Amino acid sequence: MHEFSISNEIVRNVLDTAKKNNGKKVLSVQLEIGELALLNVEQVTFWIHELFKGTVAEGAKVKVKTIKARIRCESCGYKGGMDLDQKDPFRHFIPYACPKCSSFQIKVEKGRECTLRRIQAVR
Ligand SMILES: [Zn+2]
Repeated sequence: MHEFSISNEIVRNVLDTAKKNNGKKVLSVQLEIGELALLNVEQVTFWIHELFKGTVAEGAKVKVKTIKARIRCESCGYKGGMDLDQKDPFRHFIPYACPKCSSFQIKVEKGRECTLRRIQAVR
């Protein structure tokens, strides 16, 4: 239910922002989700749509932009993207390793975020 709590947080954020800005109707929201955020984007979108029901954001479009991962390897100095197979259902259970030397001594610089980037609303 990881996706549910994240979606819940995003929805609360959207509704808060809409309220503060006197938004009458939210038209769309844009999210940025990192490749390594361990989130199922379809599920997040689904829950957001569900939680929007009955609020000023009901029916709003949910756009998701995937943020490419960027890692730094402490062993060989590799810097760059991960070779992620997005279709592999088990990829979330495998610890991330350096694509060059397979070391697990890596630092994730980018790709774990899940941020609400933009809200489009009418006043
Ligand atoms: Zn390495």
